[in-house]
Amino acid sequence: MLPKVRLPDSRRMITLEVLGNERISPHFACLTLGGPELEHLENMGNDQGVRLFFPRAGQTELRMPVRSGNAWMAELLLMPKSRRPWVRNYTVRRFRPGQHEIDIEFALHGEHGPASAWASHVRPGEPAGIYDLGTAYLPPPHASWQLLAGEESAVPAILSILDQAPASLVAEVFLEVPESADIREDVNCPEGVRIHWLARDSDGDSNGDGDGAVPGALVLDAVKNADLPPGPFYTWAAGEAGLPTGLRRHLVNDRGVPKSDITFIGYWRHGRSSPG
Ligand SMILES: Cc1cc2nc3c(=O)[nH]c(=O)nc-3n(C[C@H](O)[C@H](O)[C@H](O)COP(=O)(O)OP(=O)(O)OC[C@H]3O[C@@H](n4cnc5c(N)ncnc54)[C@H](O)[C@@H]3O)c2cc1C
Repeated sequence: MLPKVRLPDSRRMITLEVLGNERISPHFACLTLGGPELEHLENMGNDQGVRLFFPRAGQTELRMPVRSGNAWMAELLLMPKSRRPWVRNYTVRRFRPGQHEIDIEFALHGEHGPASAWASHVRPGEPAGIYDLGTAYLPPPHASWQLLAGEESAVPAILSILDQAPASLVAEVFLEVPESADIREDVNCPEGVRIHWLARDSDGDSNGDGDGAVPGALVLDAVKNADLPPGPFYTWAAGEAGLPTGLRRHLVNDRGVPKSDITFIGYWRHGRSSPG
């Protein structure tokens, strides 16, 4: 599942410091990272992703790979585990270039994921690093409206897309979160955007795991049953791999949508850790 992406003209490893860690709802933390090296990050906006490097438990410093291009991963894997940082993928939720700050919003899913555990506990002053992944949100000019769909890991990207959307955007947005208390009441978006929030605790399941349902299943079902507006549209879908792949299959096979009008990105796989 390799989406088309727009990469920055140049990119390099960037070392930053955690400036803040705010719990915004039961399953989301917003970390602010900052430092002068952010002058090397191109502000691409929308779903701009980064590789995020952070220390393993017990490491007192962050040893970033120094190679760029495709060589850094080999360099990382050759480091002994005692020095090798964790690396995971995240979205730049907000970029304040003048203040040399970015925000990243983490969907917290317990202590068994290193990134989730780190974001739950990390304090200001700790180091972190990033490497730009560019943007995959590339709507074609002929789309008269947009379908944006994701579970909690894609909520930051979709909210960022909506923050930066032109006032003329018409969109149907499907967002799934673990529990009702994770629904954002204050989403900034154009008038033509309709947001459908789906919470896995809506059946009274207080821990938000929807009786073990895989995240994204609610959104997939909701779009399959939705009365979508007429006209050609662009789809951006991301999250647990079953959601974007299932949605694409449905749109292509059942609604006759051209594959080229769909960006679908498997952000993570149920039951499998990200490599790195
Ligand atoms: C381009 C891109 C941008 C992304 N942006 C964001 C973002 O802004 N915010 C965000 O929260 N995530 C984002 N993700 C997803 C994030 O990279 C994964 O969720 C990642 O696996 C989390 O790492 P971890 O160390 O916590 O868990 P891992 O070590 O990767 O996995 C440990 C276990 O947790 C499960 N798991 C992983 N992620 C989740 C989850 N979200 N919910 C429930 N179970 C999970 C795995 O299946 C595995 O069983 C993005 C992914 C990509 C590719």
